[in-house]
Order: sequence, then C-alpha cells, then structure tokens
Amino acid sequence: MPTPGRDTIRYGGNTSCYELRIGGEIIVIDAGSGINQLGSALLDEFGANPISLILLNTHTHWDHIQGFPFFIPAYMKNNRIRVIGRNPVPDSLESIFKTQMDGNHCFPVSLETLPSTVSFEHLNPHGQPEFDLGSLKFATCPTNHPGGCLGYSFHTPKGKVVFLSDHETDGPDENVILEFIQDAYILIADTQYTDAEFASRRGWGHGCSSSVISLALRADIKNLYLTHHDPSHTDHFMDGMLAEARSMVPASSPLKVFAAIEREKVLL
Ligand SMILES: [Zn+2]
Ligand SMILES: [Zn+2]
Repeated sequence: MPTPGRDTIRYGGNTSCYELRIGGEIIVIDAGSGINQLGSALLDEFGANPISLILLNTHTHWDHIQGFPFFIPAYMKNNRIRVIGRNPVPDSLESIFKTQMDGNHCFPVSLETLPSTVSFEHLNPHGQPEFDLGSLKFATCPTNHPGGCLGYSFHTPKGKVVFLSDHETDGPDENVILEFIQDAYILIADTQYTDAEFASRRGWGHGCSSSVISLALRADIKNLYLTHHDPSHTDHFMDGMLAEARSMVPASSPLKVFAAIEREKVLL
C-alpha cells in the first residue's frame, strides 16, 4: 500500500514503478502508485508531443498496477502505451486492467474510454527467453512469488540491468535466478523484510537482506538496490536496514549496496 507521510519522505512511499531509458525507448516497469508522478514528469518533458512507451508488468498484484488509472498520459489522445507482461491465466492482463477500472472498483473512467492507445501483449517466458522490441532487448525469468511473477533483465551498451521483484529468496529455482542475474551492473532486488521479519513471513513471496546480499555476492553484482520497501518501514528504519546490509558485504568485495529512493536517477 502507498505510505505517504513524514516518516517516508526520504525513501518514498509509493508502490512499485521504475523507468528505464535505453536506446531511445521509454520502458516503465510496473504501474504502482509511483506512476502518477512519472506521468507528470513525462508531461513536463514532452509537452504536447506524443509519448510512446512500453509498460512491462512483473505481475498483477495490486501494488504493481494500482497507479495505472492515475497515469495522466493515458488520458491524452496521441500517446501509445504497450502493456507487456506474463499471462495471468485464467485472466489476462487486459481483463485485470479493465476490472480495476470498472464501476465496482469505484473508478469513474473505464479502460475502453481512455483516449490514448493502450494495447496488451503476453510474454511466454518458458517458450522464448529473450525478447527483441526494436532497440530494446530483454530476458525474463519466473520468480518465486505466490501466483507467479517475472524478473526482467536488460542488456544495455553500458551493462546489464536486472529487476527482480517480487521474489522470495532461497526458493527451489535459486540456481536459475543466480544465472539470470549473473554479472549485472545493477540489480534491483526485493528485500522487503529484515531477517527477523522474514522468519515469520516465509511463503509471502518477498526477500530479505541477508539472502539477497549472499545472492548478489555469488553472482558478482556491482551495484545492488534494495527495494519493495515494507509499508511499515520508516526512513529511520530503512537507514538501519541499509547499514546492516552494507555490513554484510566483505571489504574485499566490489559490491556496492544502496536502498532505492523515490525519484532517484541512476546514470549508467
Ligand atoms: Zn506481488
Ligand atoms: Zn509487490
């Protein structure tokens, strides 16, 4: 759930939304409540010019789609939004996006009446591990998360960037995950819980700092961003979590650890 307020003002209180710019493409990962501010930033940048972007969806849990009805570029005629993600059988991405904007969910505007062009495409992660969308090349990997979820890996001229959330570490396919994230310049990974919290929340589909640090060390990651902050974790608590995570990295390791901060820009 979004957690705005004075206790989350530094790390941010919105649910998942990330933007990547690669080779002229605008890629948005997930449409949590953070996509509302992204929409405003895009309008500041593009003005009246058309915006065309790819919205990659990891999965359709509410914290990853709930901001879409508040994404202002979707309300402008010349904009194009390609929503791409795993097939949430027996539903579809389109039906789930439609449902959260129907009258029963108390949203006044339906998906069908949005003036922009919104299209939906399903990926088949088992049949086609690498995807090529013009200048954008990426790979996917199923994560360990109730109901299913996809991690995304982007090969950029400046290095590999991997987004791995939501994912519970120490799952049955940890070796597959290890290979997927291997040698990433940037790994953005789900570390929602402290080790103490994780003990009572196994099976909820999220990671904890110690196992993600261990995974990052084994995979020779250069920069790790802790993310999917728990709604109960204040800025002060996050400072402590980050310090603890950094203390787990041996002095001889090149791994740098950060906590994702809302609206922070990282240049490769
Ligand atoms: Zn989830
Ligand atoms: Zn989530």
